[in-house]
Amino acid sequence: MDVGFIGLGSMGHAMAANLLQAGHTLRVWNRSPDKADDLVARGAQRAGRPADCVSSDGLVVTMLSDDAALEAVVAGPDGIGERLAAGGIHISMSTIAPSTSSRLAALHVSRGAAYVAAPVFGRPDAAATKLLFVLMAGPQEACTRILPLLEAMGQKVFQIGQDPAQANIIKLGGNFMIMAAIEAMAETMTLGEKFGVAREKMMEVLTQSILPAPLFVNYGRQIANHSYEPARFKLSLGLKDANLVLAAAGSKQVPMPLAGMMQNRFLSSMAKGRGEFDWTAAALGVSEDAGSGSAA
Ligand code: NAP
Repeated sequence: MDVGFIGLGSMGHAMAANLLQAGHTLRVWNRSPDKADDLVARGAQRAGRPADCVSSDGLVVTMLSDDAALEAVVAGPDGIGERLAAGGIHISMSTIAPSTSSRLAALHVSRGAAYVAAPVFGRPDAAATKLLFVLMAGPQEACTRILPLLEAMGQKVFQIGQDPAQANIIKLGGNFMIMAAIEAMAETMTLGEKFGVAREKMMEVLTQSILPAPLFVNYGRQIANHSYEPARFKLSLGLKDANLVLAAAGSKQVPMPLAGMMQNRFLSSMAKGRGEFDWTAAALGVSEDAGSGSAA
């Protein structure tokens, strides 16, 4: 298929590379053009502006940091919103607010195009090895057409339904649970340390007994070793997601005290200059609160 791809950051670059490798024809755009260089060398075409990534009835994927970046490439000058029309599909894979998804879906529909939300679970290493989990929601006909593309980027595509916002709220729910797990693991390891239990030993026992899930094994290892650079998922983006969870919760009168706590944890980490660290670096704040010092 001919596909436009916008946003070649840690995730998007690896995902676009997999589309190329699967034999799709790619037209790419990134705000910092140099990130497209190697994809262009491997056969992708470079677009001069977002709108030039796609024809009016074509397919375009976006994988951008946040809601504002996405709005800019859709509704801003040179955006894809002005280009897509009947038959066109915007495949929106960033982690964003459900309300942004609903708004962009309505905008595309008003021009005859379709919008499919397809946020993902999995970090850049999973993106590179096609091990992402993709949460797809949008009009059935559009979902059926784009399924092969999503399958070329991940290990499993969950079909959520016709309302794009539902895919986004599931993604935010998952990220909320990861943040809560980061905090729980950091507190547990810090507590163990005070009793002379090595952080690695604490996680070895817990992940080989009651918590053998990849989340605890992989994130636990990072937190045990205080290994926060380079970031796989930036802490500044973790704060973005805590904010998105709380905004969604507020809009439906759902108290989420743990999310509020994690928002503060990330804010405090940002204030200490850790926005570019991996989001597991929230664990440093736990150690500091306990007077245990930190490795960074
Ligand atoms: P990233 O490495 O920081 O990449 C962000 C991308 O957005 C870059 O291409 C960046 O362009 C672009 N961008 C930012 N602001 C922009 C603007 N105003 N206009 C145009 N482009 C803009 O982030 P990432 O880790 O790939 O994450 C991308 C999305 O995937 C986020 O929504 C994130 O929450 C989600 N996600 C990430 C992970 C993960 O583990 N990393 C996992 C699942 C989902 P430049 O290159 O010019 O800066």
